[in-house]
Amino acid sequence: MRKKIIAGNWKMNKLEADIQTWIADFHQYFTGEPKGIRIAIFPPFTGLGSLRKGLPHYVEVGAQNVSEHLEGAYTGEISATMIADSGANAVLIGHSERRQYHHENNLLLHRKLSIAVQGGLTPYYCVGESQAERQAGDAEHVIRTQLREGMIGLSLSEAEQIVLAYEPVWAIGTGLTASKEDVQKMHHFIRQEVAGLFGINVAENMPILYGGSVTGATAPELLNCPDVDGVLVGGASLKLETFAPIINAGVEA
Ligand code: PEP
Repeated sequence: MRKKIIAGNWKMNKLEADIQTWIADFHQYFTGEPKGIRIAIFPPFTGLGSLRKGLPHYVEVGAQNVSEHLEGAYTGEISATMIADSGANAVLIGHSERRQYHHENNLLLHRKLSIAVQGGLTPYYCVGESQAERQAGDAEHVIRTQLREGMIGLSLSEAEQIVLAYEPVWAIGTGLTASKEDVQKMHHFIRQEVAGLFGINVAENMPILYGGSVTGATAPELLNCPDVDGVLVGGASLKLETFAPIINAGVEA
């Protein structure tokens, strides 16, 4: 039974004071543990320690990127072990903004997936097609390539640790959300692809989240799609006022 996951990606936002306000607001909105779901927050690296200390244990905390190296002379990089040492247990890998602005390709992301698992982190592997790719009818081909090149060669036990996030690039930060029919179709396709790579059991257990301009208004219908196991939320996760309704939609789905 796959639990719904409500995840927030803060991108490059929030200073320490803002983080403390968010934590205080979280405790106001949620006095007890929201039942039957997982919640995960991905702050910038600088917020990992504060979030871990300030949030209840049931909220998972993750980084937005990880080095493909274990340790050593890689100035400016942060390793999986360092992320785990901060108390975090997860990491986003292959977010479209990393693919687009930092030229991260599938082969690099494959190394990051593997090193994240070795470091004890749950990788949230993000895949998604651009608007031009969708319009050209290439969406499934692009997703298949991202899945295969990113994950092929991982062991079954590594693959079992992965959470997938389908995030069409044209829906991220644009206010455009894919229709629930399109989302369900793509998630079903992704599950079939995972089954082809790692077998039906891994595919049936692998959470597949949707991301792209999710709000409290769109979350309920998306979360009720059979192959949608949660949502990855950018803009609307920055304030509890907009994030709490999405968490509540997860509880009710
Ligand atoms: C994201 O950054 O992963 C995302 C989905 O952003 P937004 O919800 O703002 O579209």
